[in-house]
Amino acid sequence: MKDGFGREITYLRMSVTELCNLRCRYCMPAEGVCKRHHDEMLTQEEMLRAVRVAAELGIRKLRITGGEPLVKKNILAICEGAAAIPGIGEICLTTNGLLLPGLAKPLRAAGVSRLNISLDTLDARKYAWMTRIGALDDALKGVEAALEAGFERVKLNAVLIGGWNDDEIRPLAALSARWPVDVRFIELMPMADKSAFGPEAYIPCGRVLEVLPELLPVAESDGVARLYRLPDGQGRIGLISPLSAHFCGRCNRLRLTADGRVKPCLHSPREYPVKGLDSEGMRRQFLAACAAKPERHPLLSYECRSGANRSMNRIGG
Ligand code: SAM
Ligand code: SF4
Repeated sequence: MKDGFGREITYLRMSVTELCNLRCRYCMPAEGVCKRHHDEMLTQEEMLRAVRVAAELGIRKLRITGGEPLVKKNILAICEGAAAIPGIGEICLTTNGLLLPGLAKPLRAAGVSRLNISLDTLDARKYAWMTRIGALDDALKGVEAALEAGFERVKLNAVLIGGWNDDEIRPLAALSARWPVDVRFIELMPMADKSAFGPEAYIPCGRVLEVLPELLPVAESDGVARLYRLPDGQGRIGLISPLSAHFCGRCNRLRLTADGRVKPCLHSPREYPVKGLDSEGMRRQFLAACAAKPERHPLLSYECRSGANRSMNRIGG
């Protein structure tokens, strides 16, 4: 499946729920999200139908996300079902890690090949503040469970927030020396709600290179991340810069929300519903979303905010 700008679309990010066991300030409101009637959300059967259709159209990599995918009761059955679909070569999952102590091994057995775990701070008080209800220790136990379960190249994702965790760039990066993990710094994206952070929070990933001049560039490519390594690093350091150096030219992805909308671009309000459709109907919507992929999204900033009409937990980050 090629879009109108010649980009081959091979990557689907599928959100399996809008719900979460945390309430991160940059992602969702304090009160969480209203639980919606299950008739509005994709069923397991519809999710797997959509993945099958997407695979027939050339999708090879599937990322399962949310909300928090591990709060979904049938998450293992969804992963197993997706892993059995011909053409899907790789299933990755993004999680806050809290439920990994019980689920890391079963996820691996269900066909998940890679895990990304979100970890923005190593300070327990800051973690509790940012997530509103979470405990840092639980997230760290989740990372350890992922490593014990034998997942290779676990990635730890830290959203870089000026005035909040930019003083932790060095200790966060040092996790790539302590554990065989990649640590990736991601620029904070200005979603529609302006209330959580002021302009000073939006700092470029270049700050990481200023703080860590010893970083060595790594030639390999990892999709959207620029890669480096600490001299004593087991894993790599990735910089993901959706604001300061956006990567739309290499974008190869579509998104599917938990309520069944195919989104051509994270920052576009356009959505193509597939809820209730048969395979042929879904195929048409995937192709329409692919054709509607914009060449690039506008340059985002505190003032020029994302055009997505949803908070991140309702899109699937
Ligand atoms: N609950 C899972 C987790 O936290 O990893 C998966 C869903 S979460 C929406 C996916 C990723 O989006 C997380 O790494 C989170 O930090 C990131 N994210 C959420 N809001 C963001 C924002 N405004 N800017 C940058 N990243 C954001
Ligand atoms: Fe939940 Fe992930 Fe959003 Fe945090 S970033 S509130 S863990 S969905």
